[in-house]
Amino acid sequence: MVRKKLCLAVDQGGTKMMIGAVDSEGRIYASKRYPTGVRNQQEMADIILNGIEDFLSAEDLGNGEAAAVGMGIVGQIDAENGIWSLMYNLESDRPIHFADMVERRFGIPCFIDNDVKAATAAELEIGIGKECNHFIYLNIGTGIAAGIVCEGKIIRGYRNNAGEVGHMIVDPYSGVRCSCGKIGCVESIASGRGIEQQYRRLLKEFPESALHKLSEEEEICSEIVFESALKGDELAMCVADKAIDAIALLIGNLITTFNPEQIVLGGGGICG
Ligand SMILES: [Zn+2]
Repeated sequence: MVRKKLCLAVDQGGTKMMIGAVDSEGRIYASKRYPTGVRNQQEMADIILNGIEDFLSAEDLGNGEAAAVGMGIVGQIDAENGIWSLMYNLESDRPIHFADMVERRFGIPCFIDNDVKAATAAELEIGIGKECNHFIYLNIGTGIAAGIVCEGKIIRGYRNNAGEVGHMIVDPYSGVRCSCGKIGCVESIASGRGIEQQYRRLLKEFPESALHKLSEEEEICSEIVFESALKGDELAMCVADKAIDAIALLIGNLITTFNPEQIVLGGGGICG
C-alpha cells in the first residue's frame, strides 16, 4: 500500500508549541500540544527537537508518513537558508542552522519560517487567500505581529522582518515601556503579555477590583481580564478598553497603509 505523504507542521509560540501531521489540503491527521513556558533560543531549540521526536514515536499517522517538516518559529528567520537568526534579540541568541539540524536528526527535509509568516502562508494557500489577493493576517498572542499579503505575495522586507507591527507606537504618552525599549507600542498594551503587565501596573489604583482576590487563586491572563471586564470590574474594564483601543488604532493604521480587502484575526494561547 502506498503511504500518504504528510508534512509535520510545527507551530512554536511564546509559551507553547503545536505539532500536527497534515496533508497538502490542510487536513490534520494527528496533533499534539506541548507547553513550553518562556525559554531562551537554545532551550527552545532542544524542546522543538524533542517534541518532534516524541510526536514521531507516539502519534498514529494511520497510513500516512512524515515526508517533510514545516516549521513556524518565533523571531527572525532566514527562511531561504533555514537559519534561525534571532529569537528575542537577547544576548544568548545566535544564528542556528535549524533546518539542517532537523534534517540530519530525523532524515526528512525541513523548511523554517517566522511563525506569523508561516501562518500567513497557510492563509494564502488554504484560507482567505482563496478569495482575495490583498489581506492582512494579524496575530494577537503572547506578542503581536502581522503577515501582509499584497498582490498575492507576502511582504517580507529586508531580512524577512516586515510585519513586526507589535512595535508600532499607538500611545506615546502612556508611560508604558515595551520590551523593545520604546514607549507605547501596541504590543505592550494589547498582547497577552502586555495585558498582564497593564493589570499589574494598575492594581494599586483599583483597590476594590475583584482581580486582587482572583490573582491570589490563579494566574491572571487576558482571558480572565476580559471576562472580569464583561462583569463590570473597573480595573479589568480599564485594561481591556486600552487594549481594544490600541488594536483598533493598529488595524486602522494598517488599512490606511496597505489598503487590504480583508483582515484576518488570529493568535491565541495567551493564557499560557
Ligand atoms: Zn516595542
